[in-house]
Amino acid sequence: MISLKSPREIRLMKEAGRIVNLVFKEVEAKLRPGMSTADVDKLALDVIVKEGGIPTFKGYGGFSGNICVSVNDTLIHGIPSKREMIKDGDIVSVDVGVTKDGYVADAARTFLVGNVSERARKLVEVTEESFWHAVDNFAKPGNYIGDISHAIYEYASSRGYTLTRDYTGHGVGRKLHEAPAVPNVGTPKTGPRLKAGMTLAIEPMLNEGLVDLIVLNDGWTVKTKDGKLASHYENTIVITADGYEVLTMEDN
Ligand code: MG
Repeated sequence: MISLKSPREIRLMKEAGRIVNLVFKEVEAKLRPGMSTADVDKLALDVIVKEGGIPTFKGYGGFSGNICVSVNDTLIHGIPSKREMIKDGDIVSVDVGVTKDGYVADAARTFLVGNVSERARKLVEVTEESFWHAVDNFAKPGNYIGDISHAIYEYASSRGYTLTRDYTGHGVGRKLHEAPAVPNVGTPKTGPRLKAGMTLAIEPMLNEGLVDLIVLNDGWTVKTKDGKLASHYENTIVITADGYEVLTMEDN
């Protein structure tokens, strides 16, 4: 069942999204080599608490962090740790869910730390571009989830990257994960139709090498099997009467 949110619910999600965006600004300002991924988690938690939010991921399915911090060959779900240090040249994905007044917003950015290689920079760039390509062209009433999935896949794969079918974007709002799934691989004109009031977390996840992934024994950390880099970009959007609006960016 795909829920359509009322204007009041959208306002509440925007407020949660405002806090998610503040976390990204804080991380962007402070992230540097020598920090641990637990330090990044602490930066995020401080912002979320100060703004009256709740870190949605904490305790979700037993997840121990407040946010996910995924470095280099970790695609998603990195568990913040005092032992994992961030180095010059790393790419660091920060995935943040915030709940406020019962409503959830979810987004991710991959940050470049210091002197990042050209190939890493390109991967991160294309990940973000694939999101915008998909939503700008297809996020409007009457189109299909499959149109968005296909657009992400087409944009990224034509530039040489691979995209897993094992993890997807999702509906979001009253809960962290709602229907429908929003895969990063798909067929045009298939899947649910987009309607005004649908709220979706759309999240391209790109590998620079093979598509194969492994999950570590901690039950969470998802890494590329070949050890090559991976990148993640996500926003929560709402489908509007004539397009979409992003709920997890500054000017919303
Ligand atoms: Mg998500």
